[in-house]
Amino acid sequence: MKLLVTKLWFPYNVRTTLAGLFEIPQIQERFDEGFLYDGEMRPQDIKVCSGYWPANAVLDRLPESKKDVYLVLTSMDLKGDYGRIHGKGYNRKAIASNNSFLSGAKNNIFDPRDIDFQAMTFHELGHALGLSHHDNDSLNHCAMPLGSHSWSSLDKIRFCDECYNKIK
Ligand SMILES: [Zn+2]
Ligand SMILES: [Zn+2]
Repeated sequence: MKLLVTKLWFPYNVRTTLAGLFEIPQIQERFDEGFLYDGEMRPQDIKVCSGYWPANAVLDRLPESKKDVYLVLTSMDLKGDYGRIHGKGYNRKAIASNNSFLSGAKNNIFDPRDIDFQAMTFHELGHALGLSHHDNDSLNHCAMPLGSHSWSSLDKIRFCDECYNKIK
């Protein structure tokens, strides 16, 4: 399976951002064909409400895929069904915004190895592959429970065995 990557107003390096994501072992295993950068998407006619881009409308502009998974990287603020979100995933498509994961005086420095950003992206890819939220199990760490799990490093981020078996 391949990860098809596109960007939407993402003024950062796509390849180094993906290199960070691919430090997660289950990403390497699942996306054994790596990623393919497909350029910038320019969705037309999307109604942007008070500066927030509607995540569903962006994802719905992507082609359908039966085999691979699409990932949109953006620096725009995103809106979900009820309010601001960092990312979203369903139906083999995911979007992740790094806008809450920037640092520096001008809030414009992005670390492509930012653990929280990559864990959020990983979570949304889980949704894109059909996984749902579930309760936290401290003995079987997983990126799918809601709430912030603090991972100690990129290579520790994972789905629990039950989730991972579902997407194998
Ligand atoms: Zn979720
Ligand atoms: Zn799980």
